[in-house]
Amino acid sequence: MTSLNLNIAKFGGTSVANFSAMQNCADIIAKNTATKVVVVSASAGVTNHLVTLANTPLTQSQSLQVIDQIKTIEYGILKELENRNAIENKLESLLDGLTELALHEELLHRYDLKDALLSFGERMSSLLFTEVLKSTGVNAENFDVRKVLRTDGTYTEAVPQIDDIRDLSQRLMLPELSSKVLVTQGFVGADFNGNTTTLGRGGSDFTAALLAEALDATSCEIWTDVVGVYTTDPRITDRARPLPELSFEEAAEMANFGAKVLHPATMEPALRKNIKVFVGSSKEPEKGGTWIVRDCEQEPPYRAITRRKQQVMVTVKTPKMMHAPGFLQQVFTIIAKHNLSVDLVTTSEIAVSFTLDNPANSVAEKLNRDTLDELREFCEVVVESDYDLVTVVGNNMHSAAGVSSKIFSSVRDYNLRMICYGANPHNMSFLVHQDNSTNIVKELHKSLFE
Ligand code: ADP
Ligand code: ASP
Ligand code: MG
Repeated sequence: MTSLNLNIAKFGGTSVANFSAMQNCADIIAKNTATKVVVVSASAGVTNHLVTLANTPLTQSQSLQVIDQIKTIEYGILKELENRNAIENKLESLLDGLTELALHEELLHRYDLKDALLSFGERMSSLLFTEVLKSTGVNAENFDVRKVLRTDGTYTEAVPQIDDIRDLSQRLMLPELSSKVLVTQGFVGADFNGNTTTLGRGGSDFTAALLAEALDATSCEIWTDVVGVYTTDPRITDRARPLPELSFEEAAEMANFGAKVLHPATMEPALRKNIKVFVGSSKEPEKGGTWIVRDCEQEPPYRAITRRKQQVMVTVKTPKMMHAPGFLQQVFTIIAKHNLSVDLVTTSEIAVSFTLDNPANSVAEKLNRDTLDELREFCEVVVESDYDLVTVVGNNMHSAAGVSSKIFSSVRDYNLRMICYGANPHNMSFLVHQDNSTNIVKELHKSLFE
């Protein structure tokens, strides 16, 4: 069944950071009657505090101090509500649950507890935001996303189960949408046993896209703190410009190669179901934003520049490599066995270098001694960090004449490592030393877009 004109709207952390930011979001929802499902992130800063609690050895009093910072954010919103009595008890019981987990003695090494703790940010913001929305006259209801967002049991990076999510949301959400707006949590899911899981940092965008797919929505809006997807991160250069339109493929490449405005997997459901995605600013909705669609009017050779920080490059070599069939296979089998996935690869006659997929900050931890020891049994291994990956995203980059010379001439003064054309025609990447990456992005931006 295709729902007529259903829109899913997602609001990020800064958009629900406090009461007045939440009011802007409520106005956006009230103005579009097609918006029937609202996905919210935790209020800005809350997930960072929860991560600190989950991953840092703290004394009880240190933990309580962090919890106090969370309480200040949540109560700051609660006290502004017209009808605070309606949810005060619920908020308090959530904060009690959070505190109990934060002080749990096994928290540091139990990933199920960490995920349960991380889910509280979205559970509290969605509770509060539902009340804000109700006070603007919208018939809103808070919906526990764990009833529908089925994942596997990989805590902190759970994998959504698409068919289950579809069945469950069609059954439990869709019938409600004729009379209500459901406000639910981004980032959070539950596995087959009902244990709480999370989708990885920034995962609320992904939740919105997954629900849009499951409910056959026509559009999915990502409301954030910038007026669209820009030619590069506007925090790197004030010359960056918002793009009115992007293709699914271009946006997927940008997200994958580090444009934080979209979680890397956001475009997958949109692509599968041809759901157009909008990115705009909840503070300045009148400024419009970026529409991400299947067919764009233009396919320029250069669309945007992205940067992914903290890359880890591994170089493996053995003098025997030239005559050693199966060497690469051996290397990659070990990598796969340790649940690491390879991102970029370059080979020469005597060495192979690769980078590892780097979901925010976790690779250094994952590329552990066991993996390195196993590799070192049969080859020399050099691990280098301090690199950032810079990617130019565009169209027909393999075949268009002059693409690489234009890119390289603008950064000729810098040392580039591991230059790679992607497996598709939409990107070209290279590693650069982290101290240079800001200047390199600025130089490239000047030469390609200004
Ligand atoms: P939210 O909390 O709403 O999910 P995020 O902080 O995750 O917001 O994403 C928005 C941020 O993404 C922007 O503030 C911006 O600094 C960063 N960003 C990185 N690359 C881009 C880009 N190409 N276009 C727009 N924003 C970008
Ligand atoms: N609150 C989560 C985070 O900060 C998810 C999100 O904001 O998308 O990572
Ligand atoms: Mg985000």
